Amino acid sequence: TAKKVAFVGLGNMGGGMAPNLVKAGFEVRAFDLSAAALAQADAAGCVPAATAAAAVEGVDYVVSMLPDGAIVEHLYIDGEPALLDCMPATALVIDCSTVAAASSRRLAEAAAQRGIQAIDAPVSGGVAAAAAGTLAFMCGGTEAACTAAEPVLSAMGSNVLRAGDSGAGQVAKICNNMLLAVHMIGTAEALQLGVDNGLDPAVLSDIMLKSSGCNWSLEKYNPYPGVMPGAPASRDYQGGFMVKLMQKDLGLAQAAALASRSDTPMGTLARSLYGLHAHAGGEDNTELDFSSVQRLFSRP
Ligand code: NAD
Repeated sequence: TAKKVAFVGLGNMGGGMAPNLVKAGFEVRAFDLSAAALAQADAAGCVPAATAAAAVEGVDYVVSMLPDGAIVEHLYIDGEPALLDCMPATALVIDCSTVAAASSRRLAEAAAQRGIQAIDAPVSGGVAAAAAGTLAFMCGGTEAACTAAEPVLSAMGSNVLRAGDSGAGQVAKICNNMLLAVHMIGTAEALQLGVDNGLDPAVLSDIMLKSSGCNWSLEKYNPYPGVMPGAPASRDYQGGFMVKLMQKDLGLAQAAALASRSDTPMGTLARSLYGLHAHAGGEDNTELDFSSVQRLFSRP
């Protein structure tokens, strides 16, 4: 018989991920506070549940893809009822939301008190990768729990990587996204410097791609409009990874740095620049793709 998965949080990401579990042969019980999101999951072959508590009854796995740590902790631990009290002790909890490592550790501990295994498995890759089933999962938890999660995660992604114990997946995620912000901003300012000094941004991009400045932003996500046809920069920065989500991740990175007393001057600057960009010129840029930071450097 098919393994049962409860899936809570069917937004931009979860709405793409849950149908891939259906395609892989899992029985998926879906729940979201939004009726529209739930209807969409229903149409994709999930079984809609009336509440999160009903969705997790008798399941083998619980997957969640929620906005932030406060919601995750409330849902599983502090809410009435706490989801951890509604699922079988044999269930494996896989939280794919991006939250603070401390939230993930609290969830894993609260689960362990009930004999339940829980891992953090935040993702890299955006909405398109979620729908295509090509996400990268960064897992934190015991080796046994991460191995047990593999059949579910590999149905939704192409890379399942264990970072370490509980919370380690979140740490890997914020380190990666802090570096992503830094090389995106660096790429944008370098391109503008070239343009201001008479270079064609496409020619400069080609040269840097074959030189030591080559990086992922330049290779896959060129921020200068018109250089890369399929990139968000070439469609007015619509779609992609929103500025406000990058701000959330940079905030988590700074909170982690404060807690561990790590020096992250580039990450701190990146957070400030994204903060400025979010409202530059009195505009609301928070829902533009994060490569729109190019506009902070462009001249009228
Ligand atoms: P979203 O806001 O589109 O989706 C979240 C969904 O959770 C919504 O449908 C909302 O109704 C639902 N929800 C909220 N509270 C709930 C509750 N108590 N019970 C049930 N459902 C509830 O967000 P998203 O873009 O899908 O992002 C989800 C997570 O993935 C976030 O932590 C985000 O940081 C992370 N992430 C997003 C991207 C991206 O490109 N969008 C990429 C990587 C990681």
